[in-house]
Amino acid sequence: MPNSPRPEEGRRPVAEPAPPDLRARRARARRILDALGAGNPAPRTELEHRDPYTLLVAVVLSAQSTDAGVNRATRTLFAAADTPQKMVALGVEGIAQHIRTLGLYNAKARHVYELSRLLIERHGGRVPRDRAALEALPGVGRKTANVVLNEAFGEPTLAVDTHVFRVARRLGLSDGRTPAAVERDLLALVPRRWARAAHHLLILHGRYLCKARRPECWRCPIRRLCPHEPKTAAQPPAVKPRFSRPTSWDSGDPGREEG
Ligand code: SF4
Repeated sequence: MPNSPRPEEGRRPVAEPAPPDLRARRARARRILDALGAGNPAPRTELEHRDPYTLLVAVVLSAQSTDAGVNRATRTLFAAADTPQKMVALGVEGIAQHIRTLGLYNAKARHVYELSRLLIERHGGRVPRDRAALEALPGVGRKTANVVLNEAFGEPTLAVDTHVFRVARRLGLSDGRTPAAVERDLLALVPRRWARAAHHLLILHGRYLCKARRPECWRCPIRRLCPHEPKTAAQPPAVKPRFSRPTSWDSGDPGREEG
């Protein structure tokens, strides 16, 4: 049996390898975002919020928590306090009561209280449209500032969370080892058309398709553009048991003794 030709002998692999030069990487990034954005041209955050302030609070609460979990907590929190003034009046203990289901809720409650107090003291109770001012607030780092600047103010920022970090590396858009390095690489590649949406498109792709443990490559719209290997295949449907009703020797109660 003849040996398979090596790639350098002219055969193209099925999936495209990550191109090394910037122009090619930009072109591929555009094709990826065009495909991801085809059915969702204006994606938004899944964190429920009413205005820049409630968005800021929701993003601070989302550290190491799911958006669904944060939304469950903020529904009662924002019913009680949806302005910095009301949040300060609620106090740290009062805030903690609403967010007990979230990890690190005591620290998060302190951050929300203190950032609300500082918004009143420094910014007239408004969320500043300024990265340095945002990052000076407790509990607010670069990622949170990027989300708020993007979602609340329409800035072309790109927040790198765990999903964006993983997806960017799998797609060969970055080989950065830190969120800051991946952010820098992506900002150099994302075309203007997708500058605001790229962050959401990559998050949603990572959350629902390109999952950490088992990416769903078999139904991925950008499979042909992705150099990540191995690609996963769909699981075969589970075989139905021959008997669906319990039998006399399978009562469904393993602890029950036959009498
Ligand atoms: S789901 Fe699979 S094919 Fe799609 S981007 Fe992720 S690793 Fe690549």
